[in-house]
Amino acid sequence: MKPILVDGHLDLAYNAVIMKRDLLRPVVEIREQEAVTPPPGPPSGTCLTTLPALLEGRIAVVGASIFVAPAIPGSLEPQVYHTPQEAFRYAVPQLDYYRRLADENERVVLLHADADMKAVLASWNTEQPQLGLFLVMEGADPIRTLSDVGWWVERGLRGVGLSWITGTRYAGGDGAPGPLTDDGRKLLSAMADYNLLLDLAHLWEDAAYEALDRYPGPVAASHAKPRAFVDRPRMLSDALIRRIAARDGVIGVVPFNLMLDGTWRRGNARLPLTRVAEIIDHICQVTGAASSVGIGSDFDGGFGQEAVPEGLESSADLGKLGSLLAERGYTDSDIDAILGGNWLRVMRRVLVAF
Ligand SMILES: [Zn+2]
Repeated sequence: MKPILVDGHLDLAYNAVIMKRDLLRPVVEIREQEAVTPPPGPPSGTCLTTLPALLEGRIAVVGASIFVAPAIPGSLEPQVYHTPQEAFRYAVPQLDYYRRLADENERVVLLHADADMKAVLASWNTEQPQLGLFLVMEGADPIRTLSDVGWWVERGLRGVGLSWITGTRYAGGDGAPGPLTDDGRKLLSAMADYNLLLDLAHLWEDAAYEALDRYPGPVAASHAKPRAFVDRPRMLSDALIRRIAARDGVIGVVPFNLMLDGTWRRGNARLPLTRVAEIIDHICQVTGAASSVGIGSDFDGGFGQEAVPEGLESSADLGKLGSLLAERGYTDSDIDAILGGNWLRVMRRVLVAF
């Protein structure tokens, strides 16, 4: 039987709330609509993901992000925050979006506890497979104070990335060097009380090491890439990859051309999909196993169809990576782990505590 997949990072709520995409519609309909009326916000490319594409691609679970953009000079974002209170105020509609999506659609489940995960996985043996949403905050500024952590968790948040490119008041980001702050250290303690997933994506590397030292719970880099291919702070050094693997964590690789080849530019020909398999293979070689890598596509998170490898025309195509891994000699069980099993293991470690 074909494996089921997990995509560790998708900005679904951002696409729905900020870009006004109706994620219940097929990808082709969004494209037709946006050819006439482009969505608000910075240029985002041709739509790659909506719910029908995810279900068609046998994607059973996604790391569904809550992302709000900070105010930075020259930002084209339609909505930016200047203060934690503003970050909170703009993030809540994204949380509400996910909750409403799950309330109103039998095919969507907000993953609060492991029982929810079990039900979603079982649904893939029926005619009505479901999509589970594992909620992760990307950039922790919407957590105004430590007492907010419980508020978010009660409503379904199961993971937190402390930082984003520009950093937050909790930690430096990949475009804004800086350590964990005292608030960041306190936030990690508060997250540990709930055994939340610590998402290391976008953290400045020194901050990532300190976070790994301090945080006892499950860890991942939800959407990331090895620095061996593109030497930028956003990418993970082999040493950091090993540290994540030593914690039984998972690294979700992003099939975004700019993160596969540092010389690629928007407008260039798309790269071959084999490049993504090479990157997955690199992580397996560095860690000596196939248990620390997965997919974190970040589709429609600032790039679209033009900027992903050939053969990926929507989320429905992510399973094609399986046959490329098989050509490289990966076994069926390794492929199942890479396409979904590794993420499921890490997410369930969080969910069993609820
Ligand atoms: Zn991101």
